[in-house]
Amino acid sequence: MIAAEAVYAQHGENSTLYLIPGTDGLSGPVSTAEMERVYKGTFVKSKGTRELYGALKSAPENDICPLCSQRTVSQLDHHLPQSAHPALTVTPINLVPACSECNKTKLAQQAVRAGEQTFHPYFEDADDDRWLFAVVKETTPASVYFFPQPPAHWEAIKAERIGWHFATYKLAELYASHAAVELNDIKFGLQEMAERNSPEEISIHLRRVAASRAAAHVNSWRRATYEALADSAWFCGGGFG
Ligand SMILES: [Zn+2]
Repeated sequence: MIAAEAVYAQHGENSTLYLIPGTDGLSGPVSTAEMERVYKGTFVKSKGTRELYGALKSAPENDICPLCSQRTVSQLDHHLPQSAHPALTVTPINLVPACSECNKTKLAQQAVRAGEQTFHPYFEDADDDRWLFAVVKETTPASVYFFPQPPAHWEAIKAERIGWHFATYKLAELYASHAAVELNDIKFGLQEMAERNSPEEISIHLRRVAASRAAAHVNSWRRATYEALADSAWFCGGGFG
């Protein structure tokens, strides 16, 4: 397990965790099922390790899942699945705080190509640049469509990975749903504003909100939403309802 952790740390630094081959059990007499019992029965519950479990789980700021940046953390996700990597079952750097939806969505999936790796928050920062964008759809009520668009200077593999991460955790659907609630929340305020302000002034207001959201989190769905709203002449001209 100690040797496996050292190999993992090296691959984590190089963003090549997909190259670690799966094994059946630990070398020696310990089976995969026994390691799963060690995790569920001992690591998660026993006094000796509960503190470590709690520290890993409570690490994210405001308790927000680092995989979707939206829902709250409820468990630890085995970044490399325990079914294929029993030696990493209780390795802290393989245990990533996650919401239950993200944990469930990924399940035992493991990348077979570099571009199919989701981001690992301990080793990689997907928020070093802007990649999340949105456009307004002229529907009734208005809706928002999200898509990843990594910067041109990102390496091809990193750009492919953000698309993979975005699709794996179903972020388009998640963010669209929250944006729909947000649009409903701001509708009344925009109707009032439209009585005394031009569509251009409404656009300026929405862009200011976007700037504040961007300062808090470069790839927040709120930032992408407010920028898309400010960019849409249709929305600012009354498309908000
Ligand atoms: Zn999540």
